[in-house]
Amino acid sequence: MPDPLYQVEKVCPICEQKFKLTKTRGQAIAVSTDTDFCTHFKDLNPSYYTIWVCPHCGFAAHEERFFTLLESARQKLKKFLEGREVNLDLSGVRSWDQAVTAYKLAIFYASMVHLPASHIASLELRLAWLYREKGMAAEETAMMKRAVEGYKEAYMREQTPIGNLTEVTLTYLIGELLRRIGHYDESLTYLSRVVGNPQAKNEKRVLEMARDAWQEVRDLKKAAEAPANGAE
Ligand SMILES: [Zn+2]
Repeated sequence: MPDPLYQVEKVCPICEQKFKLTKTRGQAIAVSTDTDFCTHFKDLNPSYYTIWVCPHCGFAAHEERFFTLLESARQKLKKFLEGREVNLDLSGVRSWDQAVTAYKLAIFYASMVHLPASHIASLELRLAWLYREKGMAAEETAMMKRAVEGYKEAYMREQTPIGNLTEVTLTYLIGELLRRIGHYDESLTYLSRVVGNPQAKNEKRVLEMARDAWQEVRDLKKAAEAPANGAE
């Protein structure tokens, strides 16, 4: 089997130095997908490698955003990172810890230059999934909380589709994340919007997932309310 990782050389848009980064060949085998679209992989998790990190200045961004900075953002980052010597080489095989570091850096820089809320939320959600991988529930929930706030902002302000997130899918994802962090009433609001959206008919799988999540929240709420209302 060929090595699933390979190296490419890039020039950092911030410090303008050459560096090597590691990419995956896209032969990762998905084992399962959670209800918030977190995919679990058999061996290699490709999301470990989608954040590019310059070993010289430390700039980090998602691969789709690495070279698309506005000039004003580039100048801001340049000023911030100027003269810093970071010895942070995340090329080669990335450990879980290194993947977490890469995501934290990408979130930090994306926030600094005000990239769209949906983009920052997607990074936060992916970081939450890394915590899920290790069973770190508190960290996972904290990161999902941040992600859901970003997605709610995107829902109000950004034009859908956002990447492959249609309005229906985005609405569902917000409802599902709210369910996962225990905000049941608000979760029902978003899940009902999916069920009531005529466009949802074109996204049958998401519609079905929204119905399941809606039912689950209803059941959870009922269970939580039962003792307070006395025995029935
Ligand atoms: Zn650099």
